[in-house]
Amino acid sequence: MDDSFDKLKAFKVGGVDYITKPFQIEEVLARLKAQLILQNQQRILQAEIARRKEIEDVLYQSRVLLSGVLNSALDGIAAMQAVRESSTGNIKDFRCLVVNPIIEKILEKNREEIIGKLLLKRFLATHNMLNLFDQFVAIVESGDPLDGDVYYASGDSCWFHYVAVKLGDGFAITVRDITVRKQMEIALQEANQKLELLANLDVLTQIANRRRFNDYLAQEWQQHQREQNSLALILIDIDYFKRYNDCYGHQGGDDCLIRVAQAIAKVPRRPTDLVARYGGEEFAVILRNTDIEGALIVANGIQTAIAELAISHENSEVSDLITLSIGIASMTPSIETSIEDLIMYADQSLYEAKKQGRNRAIVHKPYISDIVST
Ligand code: GH3
Ligand code: MG
Ligand code: MG
Repeated sequence: MDDSFDKLKAFKVGGVDYITKPFQIEEVLARLKAQLILQNQQRILQAEIARRKEIEDVLYQSRVLLSGVLNSALDGIAAMQAVRESSTGNIKDFRCLVVNPIIEKILEKNREEIIGKLLLKRFLATHNMLNLFDQFVAIVESGDPLDGDVYYASGDSCWFHYVAVKLGDGFAITVRDITVRKQMEIALQEANQKLELLANLDVLTQIANRRRFNDYLAQEWQQHQREQNSLALILIDIDYFKRYNDCYGHQGGDDCLIRVAQAIAKVPRRPTDLVARYGGEEFAVILRNTDIEGALIVANGIQTAIAELAISHENSEVSDLITLSIGIASMTPSIETSIEDLIMYADQSLYEAKKQGRNRAIVHKPYISDIVST
């Protein structure tokens, strides 16, 4: 067929080429080959298009999934990418790549203001957390995760727990609001401290109680045994206190105990000295690294302080003021001795002070046999 109308018609119904007559068999083969190659390439192209579309679908699905996870998470989630120094390759900052709505809420900024824009170093510096920067750099360099609590005021919240893990050349961080838990922890800690203090305090005199005395003496005994230093104990008893109560009433007796306790407590100077209420009208002083002479100086100071209080005691046999009898002992703990020995020696000295007429301090015999009276 020769006319152009037929050629057009042929193309319309799907023809792809034509050969004019008279034809040579080589030309026919060459043209057929060319057509076969073309069709083959088209098939490859279509397959490639279909494959890319599939990938696109998967990518879209995973993006939907990822944003679903990020948007529904109760924790703040962000991904940070390292910004490196071009010359050294060192990390000089981090840039924010991804944030979820919780992070937007915590930072009180929308994602447009954060993504690609927020630089971590300045953010940490303005919120007094710059010390965290090197730790974040270490996550990227070591691959080790990091977690901790930070204080960051945002709305009603102020305490956050974060977990940061290496992600590509940067890290992913999840942030959880722990304000309520932290506040409870702090309140509990404070309550425990108060309780501890109360458990160790004598309600009437507001100085350490017998429980605290026992604990401290046990602790110091061990410490002094290790260090081989002398530990001193002073036992104090108010003279004729039963008569004081009889004369001034129980309330008057209580007031007197408070004043005496407070006066005794002011005498020892070192923060490690402990003054405690040992029993009814008895007090005890524990002195670290103190020999008998040192303890005697403290005991004399206590006698002076009580004399200066000048609390009238009409029914006392030894004075018209409140007086004290004091027993003193000092020991370097050894394996043959015990706390009970130290208490016994101080108690024996106190008994001796009473026996010898009260209103005096007596030291445990093996050291000094003098009677020191005020
Ligand atoms: P001594 O000189 O031998 O020590 O005589 P004393 O009367 O002080 O000794 P005694 O042990 O016979 O009496 C101690 C008194 O201390 C008995 C008790 O009424 C009184 N007392 C103990 N604890 C308290 C207290 O908490 N408040 C008051 N007001 N009195 C107390
Ligand atoms: Mg007594
Ligand atoms: Mg007494």
